[in-house]
Amino acid sequence: MIKSRLVVVAAIIILSATALHAAVTVRVVPVPPTVGTNDFYVSNARPLAPSPLIKLPIGAIKPEGWLRRQLELQADGFSGHLTEISQFLKKDGNAWLAADGQGHSPWEEMPYWLKGFGDTGYVLGDKRIIDEAKVWIEGMLNSRNPDGWFGPATNKTGSRDTKNVPDLWPNMVALNALQTYYEYTSDPRVLELMQEYFKWELTVPDEKFLEPFWQQQRASDNLASVYWLYNRTGQDYLLQLATKIHRNTADWTETVASWHNVNIAQCFRAPAVYFQQTRDPYFLQATERNYTMAWGTYGQFPGGMFGGDENCRRGYYGPRQGIETCASVEFMLSCEMLLKISGDLTWADRCEDVAFNTFPPALTADFKALHYLVSANVCQLDSKNKAPGIQNGGDMLGYNPYSYRCCQHNVAHGWPYFAEHLWMATPDNGLAAVFYAASQVTAKVGDGRQVTWKQETRYPFEDAIRMTLSAKEPVEFPLYLRIPGWCNAPALRVNGRKVPVFPEPRTFIVIDRQWKDGDTVELALPMELKLRYWIRNGNTVSVDRGPLTYSLKIGEKYVRYGGTDKWPAQEVYPTTAWNYGLVLDPDKPLREQLSVRERSWPRDNQPFEVQAAPIEIKAKARRIVNWQPDHLGLIGEVQPSPVKSDQPVETVTLIPMGTARLRISAFPWIGEGPNAREWQASQQSKARYQTSESYCWELDSTAALSDGEIPANSSDKSILRFTWWQHKGTAEWVQYDFPKPRKISQAQVYWFDDTSSKGGCRVPQAWKLLYKDGDNWREVPNASAYGVEKDKFNKVTFDAVSTTALRLEAQLQPEFSAGILEWGID
Ligand SMILES: [Zn+2]
Repeated sequence: MIKSRLVVVAAIIILSATALHAAVTVRVVPVPPTVGTNDFYVSNARPLAPSPLIKLPIGAIKPEGWLRRQLELQADGFSGHLTEISQFLKKDGNAWLAADGQGHSPWEEMPYWLKGFGDTGYVLGDKRIIDEAKVWIEGMLNSRNPDGWFGPATNKTGSRDTKNVPDLWPNMVALNALQTYYEYTSDPRVLELMQEYFKWELTVPDEKFLEPFWQQQRASDNLASVYWLYNRTGQDYLLQLATKIHRNTADWTETVASWHNVNIAQCFRAPAVYFQQTRDPYFLQATERNYTMAWGTYGQFPGGMFGGDENCRRGYYGPRQGIETCASVEFMLSCEMLLKISGDLTWADRCEDVAFNTFPPALTADFKALHYLVSANVCQLDSKNKAPGIQNGGDMLGYNPYSYRCCQHNVAHGWPYFAEHLWMATPDNGLAAVFYAASQVTAKVGDGRQVTWKQETRYPFEDAIRMTLSAKEPVEFPLYLRIPGWCNAPALRVNGRKVPVFPEPRTFIVIDRQWKDGDTVELALPMELKLRYWIRNGNTVSVDRGPLTYSLKIGEKYVRYGGTDKWPAQEVYPTTAWNYGLVLDPDKPLREQLSVRERSWPRDNQPFEVQAAPIEIKAKARRIVNWQPDHLGLIGEVQPSPVKSDQPVETVTLIPMGTARLRISAFPWIGEGPNAREWQASQQSKARYQTSESYCWELDSTAALSDGEIPANSSDKSILRFTWWQHKGTAEWVQYDFPKPRKISQAQVYWFDDTSSKGGCRVPQAWKLLYKDGDNWREVPNASAYGVEKDKFNKVTFDAVSTTALRLEAQLQPEFSAGILEWGID
């Protein structure tokens, strides 16, 4: 987002200087001014746009408190031990460890994992992890070809998927791992490798450069690494390569170039990355436009992400849609990058929203397993198919350390990258507190003296932040303190003395002074209760307090369904009711309707767990009896509020959504007036007839037959279907059973046929209808033709029969299966 606001001094307050107290000057700025360049840390080099916020080298920031605990749990969890779990990380014969680049698992998995695994080690100072990461780093450093290529050989030649042109995507991720390794060690081999590799990239002709699909979408990752190197070496050919990369990247400048959820979370930032070279604000605006397009349509519920449970789909906008774990961590990284590029604190708010509300439940609280999709509303996390409510079939919700290939490896960078950006350097040799968390930062400031700020807080579970300085000698430098977008009345004390401040939200308070050892800064960010209404999703309501959104507290029962004793896979089922609508009175202040209670801090420092939630809010609610899971166990879609309920008013508990793995965070609300509506029974009852069948593929459902969903065509995968997959060439049947005899004289069948997507279902070779006559099955009399046409209902009429069951028998084509999208009877 571009701000037209000039960098203005919004307030200058000079406290009376006494003989004992140095003057405290406070400014307010929206973005750190870029008139100078930081003398100690690597900023953008000319002609790139100057950096308003500058990353400190890895190791400068030591997280403490709950954030350190996340990293420790990650180190002990599946991520820190993924070499024991993932076949892609088997060292024996691994392409990433071979000097000639030959071997197994050459694609994105290893670099995805190493990027976060290595950083976890560097941030924690964990020797086991640092040593293990080094093995893989050395593998890459030793794989350099004379022409500059590094890494697996098959990526260099490409595959059929990349039209036999080089697949650079895995190396884009690998470069990130190499960059932080360099920040940690200053190993000159990294810069050599990158220089030679980028020279090689420059030799690849445009028509063979970044061709489809993933690398073309995600090539701005490559671009960011080119700028990283340019800022360290200043070589002109790198800017030439940067232009070439941008020219061959999918066009995210003009529009959202892909509706794949991870591509959106990762690539919407692409124009802003290129802005650094053009300095044309149009590119920053294009990134904001991408954000608005995706989140404005599919992100209309709390948690800061959007419904893109593989790809965003028309008609699937609600809070039960999921976001892939890869997308959450990529979006957090996007925000961190955009902060450094633009200095715009909007990205800090958006990053915290996801980090605190959506990301934690991607994993179990003990970090021993993950799942693929996190949703704002979810009533059970079982391993059974939820398609097509969720786009992908099969297990997407169960917590399983052995599954979810991409997320399983990629999730590792979420917390360490966040921790690396708590503090940043500013162009005027100052320090900025960007994300608040207990931590210590040690950095050079002012004239080059080193200082350490110790920050103590349980933010976001607490609104007070206390900082203490350690410095050998007094040193003058500006301290920037972020004021979040939700905070209207912050309070500041320096060395115990109140300093009046009146900043707008999403600005920095800047304290310019000569700092000395033992100086303290106390910042209070009062968190107020607020409601947000999601008018595009049934006018549901969510409850916010500061950066946290609150969810209904639902009892969680964990049931093992796979994995090993050490690394179990678990489903989560509710032990308490979840189908509540909030009872809110618009005429009463919120604080009189919602009572906030702080609870004792969890002893193990892990607040992101349902029983450990450090804050609770009590609210009034009524059950909505008809709000139920659908026939596949997916929570029913939200329906328009206000909703009628004749159930008693109860007091329910809300907890931070990041602590809840089962949750309602986009709530219906209860009304009584003429606008209040009945909640319609869920899709489960849409199936009109009781059904039995010879066989049904586990990912499909017989409910599809009579749910009244009319297909767009025979390959329509947006609605529920019934198939006999993977039975091929067999004789199969499906039947309707009626509670009492029913008169029937016609039927119409809409066949499923996925020829167009090279699937295995075709219309059947032949079929007929049988009705139950006593204990016998007889064919319906005088039937007209049994049609097998695609893309339409095949209608058959016959002499009326009265029966308790109607059966459709089909002979499948040899080598093919078959399926039905809708089967109507009259
Ligand atoms: Zn993923």
